[in-house]
Amino acid sequence: MYRLGCSDPKAEANCRRPSCVFPGICNKLNTDHKHTIDLYRAARKVKGVKKVMIASGVRYDLAIESPEYVKELVTHHVGGYLKIAPEHTEKNPLDLMMKPGMGTYDRFKEMFQKYSEEAGKKQYLIPYFISAHPGTEDEDMLNLALWLKKNNYECDQVQNFYPSPMCNATSMYYSETNPLKRVKYKKREDVPVAKGERQRRLHKALLRYHDPANWPLIREALTNMGKQYLIGDKPGCLIPAEDLDAKTPAQRRKSGRHGANRFATKHTKGQPDIRTDGQKNTGKRPKPTNKPGHASGNGKPARSPKRRPR
Ligand code: SF4
Repeated sequence: MYRLGCSDPKAEANCRRPSCVFPGICNKLNTDHKHTIDLYRAARKVKGVKKVMIASGVRYDLAIESPEYVKELVTHHVGGYLKIAPEHTEKNPLDLMMKPGMGTYDRFKEMFQKYSEEAGKKQYLIPYFISAHPGTEDEDMLNLALWLKKNNYECDQVQNFYPSPMCNATSMYYSETNPLKRVKYKKREDVPVAKGERQRRLHKALLRYHDPANWPLIREALTNMGKQYLIGDKPGCLIPAEDLDAKTPAQRRKSGRHGANRFATKHTKGQPDIRTDGQKNTGKRPKPTNKPGHASGNGKPARSPKRRPR
C-alpha cells in the first residue's frame, strides 16, 4: 500500500469509517499503484541488486484494482510462491475481520495465473487461513474445510486465533460483542466466539482435516451436527470412515485420498515443484561437486570439527 491513501484531506480529517477498504473500497481512496511500480523498477536498477522478491504482504483486494501492478509483481518479483491471506471463506468471520470475500481472492488468483503464464513462470499462490477467529462457528469452519478439500489444499502449518493486545478481535473475544457496530447499554450485536479447549481444538482440526490424528474429533463433531454424510470415502466426504484409521500411512496413500496441494508457511519438501531445470525438487541438499575452490577440495562439504563429549 505504498503511498496509497485518502485523496481528500478534509474528508480524512472527519472520517469515522474503521476501514478504507471495507465493506467496499472507499471512492476517495487513491488506489493508483504507480508509486509502487516505480519503486520496484528503481529497486531492480540498483547496482549489485540481483533480485527483489516479495513473498507476502500484498493487499490483493487493492492489487486487483491495478492489473499493471499485478503484472509487474508476478513477472519480476515472485520467487515461485506468493502467500496471501484470504483468512476465511465465510462471510461472518470475514466481515468481523473487515476482509473481502472469496470473489476477490478468485479474481486475484486469475490475474496471478494469467501473468505467470505470460511470463513463462511456474508460480503458486499460498492462501492463509485462520481458525477460531471471533465470529466463527463450527459450521463456518466446516465450510472452510470443505472448500480446502474441494480445492485440493492441505495446510501443513495453520494459525489458531489467540487474543493479543491492541487488536479488534481481542475485544470481540473477551466481550463477545461486535465493536464495529454501535454498542449501547442493552443493545449490542453478539459475536459467537470459540472458547474452551474442545471447540478451539475442533476449529484447528477442521483446518487440518487431512490429518488422521484429527479424524476422531471431526467425526464426533460431524455426528453431533447431523452431518454424518460427510464421513466416508464417497466424493464430497470430508473424512474417511473409522476403518481407515487402522490403515498405515502407505495404505492410506493408496486409498486415493492423497495427491493434494500441500502447503506450509515455510518452504518445505511437500511444496509443489517449481524447478525449471528439469530436476525434481526432493527437498534434499544438492550433492557436493568436485569443482576447484570447494570448501574441502575433495568433493565433500566442509565439516566442523567433532566435539568431544565432556
Ligand atoms: S474511508 Fe474514505 S474518506 Fe475515510 S479516510 Fe478512507 S479514503 Fe478517506
